[in-house]
Amino acid sequence: MTNPFNTYLANLERLAPLAELNEQTIKALTTPDKIIEKELKVTMDDDRTLTLPAYRVQWSNARGPYKGGIRFHPAADLNEVKALAATMNLKTAVVDLPLGGSKGGVTFDPKSLSSSEIEQVARAFVRELFPYLGPTRDIPAPDVYTNAEIMAWMLDEYEQLAGVSAPGAFTGKPIALGGSLGRDTATASGAAHVLNYLVHAQGWQPEVLTVAIQGFGNAGGHLAEILHTAGYRIVALSDSQGGIKNKSGLDVKKLIKAKAETKRIQGLYCAGSVCDEAKLIEDGMEIISNEELLTTACDILIPAALDGVITSENAGEVKAKMILELANGPVTPAADEILNQRGIMVAPDILANAGGVTVSHFEWIQNQTGNYWQEEVVAAKLKEVMTQATGEVWQTAQIKKVPLRDAAWLVGLKRLAEALQYRRRV
Ligand code: NAD
Repeated sequence: MTNPFNTYLANLERLAPLAELNEQTIKALTTPDKIIEKELKVTMDDDRTLTLPAYRVQWSNARGPYKGGIRFHPAADLNEVKALAATMNLKTAVVDLPLGGSKGGVTFDPKSLSSSEIEQVARAFVRELFPYLGPTRDIPAPDVYTNAEIMAWMLDEYEQLAGVSAPGAFTGKPIALGGSLGRDTATASGAAHVLNYLVHAQGWQPEVLTVAIQGFGNAGGHLAEILHTAGYRIVALSDSQGGIKNKSGLDVKKLIKAKAETKRIQGLYCAGSVCDEAKLIEDGMEIISNEELLTTACDILIPAALDGVITSENAGEVKAKMILELANGPVTPAADEILNQRGIMVAPDILANAGGVTVSHFEWIQNQTGNYWQEEVVAAKLKEVMTQATGEVWQTAQIKKVPLRDAAWLVGLKRLAEALQYRRRV
C-alpha cells in the first residue's frame, strides 16, 4: 500500500534540484504550519457518548488563507490528512489561487450514524476548531463523505460562535446560504478544460477519441456527460459495483438515468447479479469489472473514484495514450515510472481536479464581496483559470523536458518558494 505522505516527500525530494529549492525551502515545504488534534465528544440519538478523533492540518498560508476539505471516514488518520493538506497547498499554487493549503478529517463511519448524529459531529468539529477557522484564516469545504448540507451545519455553528455573518468561512455550501452556482460541476468542467487543452496540443481530434471513466459520482459522472456532449466517444464506465462497455459508444444520459433509478450503472441491464444477456448483446454492451475498465481499449483513461488503482501490476496493461487523474492519487509512483517509459501521458491530479477548489475560491470571493455571479460568469472564469494553468504546465513540460506531473509540481513549487522568500520564512 502506498503511503500518500511518503509519496509527497519523495516527489518533493526528487524535484527539489530541478526547482532549485534551497534547504530551508525544502524544510518549509515538508513541515506543516500547524497540526491540530482534538477529540470530539458527540451524543448519539440513544444518549451514548462517542469520542471521535478529529484532525486539521494547516500546511501553509504563505500564499493566502488555509484552504481544504474535511472528510468523515473510518480510515481518516493524521498521516492521510497531512498528505492531503500538503497536496492542497501545491494544488492552489499550480492554478495560482491566492490561497494556502489545509485539510481536515474525523475518524468514523458516517454510514453508521443518523443524519442528526452526523450534524452533532459537524457542529462539534467547528466548536473544537473555532479559534483556527474563519474566512481569512482557514476555510474548509466538503471532501469524502461530507457535502453541502454538512457545510451548512458547520457554517451555522461557526456564525453562532462568532456572533457575525461569515459565509466565506466555508465553501461548498448550499446556494441558499451563499454557495456558488456551478460548484457541483466545477471539478468535472475544470478537468474537461485540461483535457481539451492537452488534446489540442497533441493535434488530436476529440470526435475520434474514445474515453473510459472509472467512477460515476460527482466528478466522474459529470465529466462523462460533459465529454459525451463535447463529442468524445465514451466507451466504458464503472461505479463501485462494476462497469459496462460498448466499443461503439455508450449513451451516457441513459446510464445517468439508470444509475439514478437503480443506484448502479449496470442497473440498465442487470437485477442483482442476473443480467439480461439478450438485451446486452442486442445493444452491443459488455459487462466488465472495475479492474478490466482500467485496461480496456481506449484513448483516454480517467480514474475518477479511488486512489492507488493504477499500480505496477496493471500499468503495463493500460491501452490508453493519456490518463487524466480526476481522483486524487490514482496512479502510484511505481506505475508512473512504467507509464512514462511507455510514453503514456498522465495529466496529474494537482492540475486535473483543481476545478473544484477554483470554484470554491470563486464562492469565497462572492461571499466576501456580496456580489453574486451568474453561472455563465463562473463557467467563463473557470475556463480562464484552468486553461491558463494547463498552458503553464504544458510549456514547463516542453521546456524542461519532463512529464506533466513533474511540470505541474515545478509550477507550484516555484510559486510557493517565491511566497516563502518574500515573507522571509526561508
Ligand atoms: P463520489 O462519492 O461522488 O463518487 C465516487 C464514485 O466512485 C461513485 O460512483 C462510486 O460508485 C465509485 N466507486 C467507489 N468505489 C469504487 C470502486 N472500487 N471502483 C470503481 N468505482 C468506485 O466522489 P467524487 O466527489 O466524484 O470524488 C471522486 C474522486 O475525485 C475522489 O478521489 C475525490 O478525492 C476526487 N475529487 C473530487 C472532487 C469533487 O469536487 N467532487 C474534487 C477533487 C478531487
